[in-house]
Amino acid sequence: MSLTVVGSVAFDSLATPFGERDKVLGGAATHFALSASFFTDVNAVGVVGGDFGDEEWDVFKRHNINTDDIEIVADGKTFFWKGRYDYDMNTAHTLDTQLNVFETFNPKLSDNSKSSKFLFLANILPMLQKQVREQCKSAEFVAMDTMNFWISSMKEQLIETIKVVDCLIINDAEARQLTDEPNIHKAAKKLMEFGLKAVVIKRGEYGATLFTEDTYFSVPAYPLESVFDPTGAGDTFAGGFMGYLSGQGEVTASTLRRAMVYGSVMASFNVEKFGTERVDALDYDEINKRFADFKQFTHFDDIPFEKVAVA
Ligand code: AMP
Repeated sequence: MSLTVVGSVAFDSLATPFGERDKVLGGAATHFALSASFFTDVNAVGVVGGDFGDEEWDVFKRHNINTDDIEIVADGKTFFWKGRYDYDMNTAHTLDTQLNVFETFNPKLSDNSKSSKFLFLANILPMLQKQVREQCKSAEFVAMDTMNFWISSMKEQLIETIKVVDCLIINDAEARQLTDEPNIHKAAKKLMEFGLKAVVIKRGEYGATLFTEDTYFSVPAYPLESVFDPTGAGDTFAGGFMGYLSGQGEVTASTLRRAMVYGSVMASFNVEKFGTERVDALDYDEINKRFADFKQFTHFDDIPFEKVAVA
């Protein structure tokens, strides 16, 4: 099975309490595609400027990501984002956003990208997400992300887009903002009423939760002691989640739960180094090892009840 992703391809300048990087490869579609490429064939759809060089293309090539639908505007500049994190690495502070060629982004999908059974609409203008969804008639499982900016500036259009997808993958603050509901369970329920089959709520260092009509499944974040840069963690999570589902070719209660764990595994690698550095250099043994660790440390059911102290 193949998976198509539409979203930003960027240069990021990043500052965290642990260091800084200037103009490194980033963007939601980039982080997503890299992560998903470990599980399935990926088509990336986006736009870059003439400043996007061999070093950047090589990252996509190394992971066999199909970039035929990444348009190059030779006389333009690639989307640029500058962000800073304080010790609370769950909150990104945007210092600068230069849309550049992304401002007039009009995704052009080849027949190959349109024919994927799995589709991820990364954070772009909600109307564009809807247009892409409508072009991908053979997509059987479509997930999307969004951000606070679209929730506050065009909630109605965003809801119209949510109504045509199967799964929403957003963070807890966005879920609350979108539903005007402080309680996360009620928020998920309200979101499901838009016709979604699944809602995934990301909670940064605290993990992520999956809601379906009859499932509630939480996965912790891997207990890392060295987190350097959370940029792209959400997209990397979504890439592991959707990539695994696409690789398996079916969406069931069981593949969804495993997809949650793979999402968490991939996100845990992403934050260990700046930008795409860590996921770019990852191998399957590392992924398998971390998946096994997850199985081990979430095995709470082998502790008999009588051994649990009751105060
Ligand atoms: P995340 O940390 O998963 O929320 O995503 C971070 C990535 O999103 C960075 O690599 C940025 O290049 C990209 N990004 C930041 N702002 C925007 C925006 N307004 N639209 C699209 N992508 C963005």
